[in-house]
Amino acid sequence: MPRSFQERSFNGTPRGVSVLGSTGSIGTQTLEVLRLFPDRFRVQALTAGSNVELLAKQAREFAPRCVAIGAEEQGPALREALADTDIEVHVGGEGLCTAAADPAADVVVAAVVGYAGLKPVLAALEAGKTVALANKETLVVAGALVNRLLDAHGGTLIPVDSEHSAIFQCLVGESDRQVEELVLTASGGPFRTRPADTFGAVTREEALDHPNWSMGAKITIDSATMMNKGLEVIEARWLFDVGADRIRVLVHPQSIVHSMVAFTDGSTKAQLGVPDMKVPIQYALSHPARWPAPHERLDWSEVPRLDFELPDTDKFPCLRLAFEALEAGGTAPAVLNAANEEAVALFLDEQIGFTDIPRLIEATLARRAVQEAPTLDVLQAADADARRTVQELARPTTN
Ligand code: NAD
Ligand code: MG
Repeated sequence: MPRSFQERSFNGTPRGVSVLGSTGSIGTQTLEVLRLFPDRFRVQALTAGSNVELLAKQAREFAPRCVAIGAEEQGPALREALADTDIEVHVGGEGLCTAAADPAADVVVAAVVGYAGLKPVLAALEAGKTVALANKETLVVAGALVNRLLDAHGGTLIPVDSEHSAIFQCLVGESDRQVEELVLTASGGPFRTRPADTFGAVTREEALDHPNWSMGAKITIDSATMMNKGLEVIEARWLFDVGADRIRVLVHPQSIVHSMVAFTDGSTKAQLGVPDMKVPIQYALSHPARWPAPHERLDWSEVPRLDFELPDTDKFPCLRLAFEALEAGGTAPAVLNAANEEAVALFLDEQIGFTDIPRLIEATLARRAVQEAPTLDVLQAADADARRTVQELARPTTN
């Protein structure tokens, strides 16, 4: 097992926990889990992008030591909303990092969406925290850097993403050397059976209508293009130190088998359950223990069948692009991620079509030379550059 997964047990005293992105889908589900175990956690920091109202409400309920809001212009409103409390208020990018590194926190749940989550995660790792990671984009952009910080500061990374939590659970008690292959399952998204020649007509609403999971808008579009699975392949490469040639994607429309590990003796382990993110969120917080909780159980009388099929990378080119970016290494995954974020935002804004998403990402990757062994500064420049390129390339189609 990677060094970063050394076991830590609950020792009876409440653990300090911070939730970055507490107002989002993963953030609010994390708070639901924390409500189940009021004696085991003390909330230290909560952060949000711009939703002052919900962040202030959460702060009143959980009484953290501090809160942070990313949008500078929302700072005054947040201060005012919490004026009668002694909760510290931080603002802007620096503020998010201050909250992420709050000394009183043991565990930091990283649930900000996208590249915006990178710096706070790096700040938490520099402070030696255990990071329960939902923000996969951090590993896509800066996997090598994250691993260096884990080594340098003694922090720990625990996956929250359901597939990676499944693999993590399958690896308990196993040796790295006996892992043959990781099998990441994918629902296939809302367009699994839709003919590819109709993809040009896909609407925002159709793409936001995921069959199995209720999630934030960005990851829901990523699931429709299958870029989500591509990002998860890169995430798995860094979390488990397994090369892309030993990571397989398998479409499994029921989302009951959350992922699998094949071992060198021909045996395969899988982790199953209803699609409910509270289960992997809780496991990331309770690991290595399992705590009794009322999450929905699988009812086998209602699971008539489990289907599996190979992914179609002609129909879903984003998956191929992610494998290619991982293979290219260096700044390529950061460019892939930035181009995807930018293209998804344009699609959500109804400025481009569904098939423009992979087209713009591929064109951006083709224009950007790969830089090897990038520093954070180089990654940031690659991110900004890729975003500009997407905007330039998208302009003719938006006129
Ligand atoms: P979401 O959009 O519902 O929530 C995002 C959170 O990040 C919000 O609290 C928002 O305020 C905050 N945020 C957004 N932009 C910000 C910025 N610029 N600065 C600071 N904070 C900002 O997203 P989500 O669905 O909860 O996803 C969060 C992360 O978890 C993503 O990386 C996603 O890929 C991953 N993930 C989500 C799910 C899921 O079921 N939702 C499952 C697996 C992994
Ligand atoms: Mg996932």
